[in-house]
Amino acid sequence: MKVVTIIGARPQFIKSAPVSKALKNAGIQEITIHTGQHYDANMSAVFFDEMALPKPLYRLECGGLERQEMLVKMQVELAPIFKKEQPDFVLVYGDTNSTLAGARTANELNIPLIHVEAGLRSFNLEMPEEHNRVETDRRSKILFTPTEEAVQNLHNEGFQNKGIQIETIGDVMYDALLQFKSKAQWVAEMGDRSFFEKEFGLVTVHRFENVSNREKLSQLVNELNEVHATQLPLYMPLHPSTRNRLKEFGLQLNIHQSPPVGYLQMLWLLQECSVVLTDSGGLQKEAYFSEKPCITLREQTEWVELVTLGVNRLHVIGTDSLKHAIEDFRSAQLDYSWKGYGTGNAADKIARTILTA
Ligand code: UDP
Repeated sequence: MKVVTIIGARPQFIKSAPVSKALKNAGIQEITIHTGQHYDANMSAVFFDEMALPKPLYRLECGGLERQEMLVKMQVELAPIFKKEQPDFVLVYGDTNSTLAGARTANELNIPLIHVEAGLRSFNLEMPEEHNRVETDRRSKILFTPTEEAVQNLHNEGFQNKGIQIETIGDVMYDALLQFKSKAQWVAEMGDRSFFEKEFGLVTVHRFENVSNREKLSQLVNELNEVHATQLPLYMPLHPSTRNRLKEFGLQLNIHQSPPVGYLQMLWLLQECSVVLTDSGGLQKEAYFSEKPCITLREQTEWVELVTLGVNRLHVIGTDSLKHAIEDFRSAQLDYSWKGYGTGNAADKIARTILTA
């Protein structure tokens, strides 16, 4: 059994760690292709080092392009590799351009497609990620969903009648967190250690809809600066897109910040912080796994169950008070006993399903 896996963006490196290990343990041959969508050392190489990921056999250079150009370049470069490798399956993760390019190319060449993290919906078609998710699901043969909510989304779209195998396995990011949390560590690149000895909030921002619009990013910067100055010290490892937009728009972010950090540092920060403020999909769940309240800096989330549980609340930038949202969480009784993301064996279930497919 041979699987070609496509990875290219930060969260995909993290998701692939437990899955690659499980495929190897099951005796499934995995060939990895890195599309180069994320290429900076702190957005890519750090994860291969820290998580001992298998070295990709193929490394493309498809980063730094507009979405359409990127998709086309990836498809053109993936096709000859798929033809050469002749895999039984192509496996893709999540909702990035690398995901969709892998899905389209697999379909073109009639190779069955596996989508890990299927069935998620934000119902916001202004997000490129939403297009990537929906189209990838439609092109797949096996859909691995993290939650029952995701299965419901697929059923609402009639997937049960399309001859597609749907398996609810739990969340591979939970597997990753359980496997690596004992290695969580602070590093000097995060800046002054004494900052982290007091109570602080962990912030990440990178979504296109938040950083590409000057007015919105400016409002967010004002809100974060105010919280940091008057309520709770904030720390943000800065995503390169956000860093570039802040510079381009001439915006001054006054909170504690550093370049992006590795996964083991994020696990350390999740253990130490008192609240998470983020527009990241993955971090919302990691906040839950780490039993930390999360304020999602978006109008909607794919991880709706966390909002229902009351541990995650949406904050629409520029409309309501971020300070109030943080204050509310301080007095709230939060319950983290729901186990809907599985028990940390999602990757093994993927391997077992592939073996019998
Ligand atoms: N992450 C990281 N370093 C950082 C910021 C995030 O390792 O400086 C990790 C984070 O813990 C999570 C993943 O990257 O596992 C989330 O990726 P990202 O927010 O880029 O993408 P999304 O989840 O929104 O697709």
